[in-house]
Amino acid sequence: MRLLDLSLRGFRNYESVQCEFAPGVNLIVGENAQGKTNLLEAICYLSRGAAFRTRREAELIRFGADFSELCARVESYGREQSLRAVMFAGRRPRQLFLSGVKKPSREALDGVLNTVLFCPEDLMILKKGSAERRKLMDDALCQLRPKYARALEEYRRLLAQKAAALHQRMDRPEMLELLPDYNERMAQTGAILITTRAKYLRRLEEQARRHHSAFSGGREELSLCYQTVSTVSDPTASALTVYGQLKEHQQSHHRAELESMQCLSGPHKDDFEAALNGLPMKAFASQGQTRTAAISLKLAERDIFEADTGELPVLLLDDVLSELDPGRKDFVLNQIPGGQVFITCCELETVTEIGKRIRVENGSLYDS
Ligand code: ATP
Ligand code: MG
Repeated sequence: MRLLDLSLRGFRNYESVQCEFAPGVNLIVGENAQGKTNLLEAICYLSRGAAFRTRREAELIRFGADFSELCARVESYGREQSLRAVMFAGRRPRQLFLSGVKKPSREALDGVLNTVLFCPEDLMILKKGSAERRKLMDDALCQLRPKYARALEEYRRLLAQKAAALHQRMDRPEMLELLPDYNERMAQTGAILITTRAKYLRRLEEQARRHHSAFSGGREELSLCYQTVSTVSDPTASALTVYGQLKEHQQSHHRAELESMQCLSGPHKDDFEAALNGLPMKAFASQGQTRTAAISLKLAERDIFEADTGELPVLLLDDVLSELDPGRKDFVLNQIPGGQVFITCCELETVTEIGKRIRVENGSLYDS
């Protein structure tokens, strides 16, 4: 999958620019606040039909402009297609086009330009609470497995209903009559979530470990260990086996759930532990190590996407080079295996040997 070119009008700090890209690395260099992240945001918008830094579309339209237009030519599955998005200031809804044909929804763009994005906030995946790590698994699996996306949606709905029933059990005790039904369906959907997450994490570990090792010059071994409901002895077992073990856990926690008025049983607290050479990263990893592992996870995500869809997604790396030593910088700039990569950085002297450099200056782009 490859982005051939991009033109922007009235997007963020870009008035009107056009740029062609290399099939390998595209290094976007410029000082702070010149428009580097904005460029990745535009690519991401065409990929997903949504921005990654804001939910408010109006923020994407250049100050004072009436509309914003993003166009790109993309090559995927051996054919060339064009993507176009137009956003309007005011109430008029945005419009999306695929090869000139207007599409009713974002979903129609799925699979045309897949992207894997690393942004500085992604460092939190390894540093913060479990929600970030569940999101990593859920986001990837929802794109790859429609059955998983449906199970997750149903599980979340059931969880909210069960939480409400437990929470209101004093005022509305009749709601507790629904608990057995919620529990049954949560065990069924929960088993799908757990078995799918466990298998995904195993593949993610295999690929991420390989990248992290190359990235760190063979010095560090990354491991990922899935953590789920305590009665589940083997999360990669059949969904039926895991279902039985989830029921067991529910039964043993029934009283505690009533007392605490909270849902204590199920995969909504799932997590995974990342470790380097056996040491948990959350407690012990340095900044460079954290960054290395976060990028390795993204590279692994890209590999799995390729294995399952047949095309390598475009990799967008925002501000990844800071804190990396020269060897690790060289890995990012010159050794990421295959595919198209966009890397932003502020160090103006940085170069890549396997692609092109684009200089960004106050909303203008220059080949350099
Ligand atoms: P850094 O190196 O600090 O990350 P950057 O090159 O990635 O910088 P961007 O985040 O792309 O910088 O933003 C560049 C500028 O775009 C900001 O100064 C911001 O004020 C401006 N900007 C953001 N939205 C708009 C908009 N809707 N209209 C005009 N300018 C905008
Ligand atoms: Mg930036």
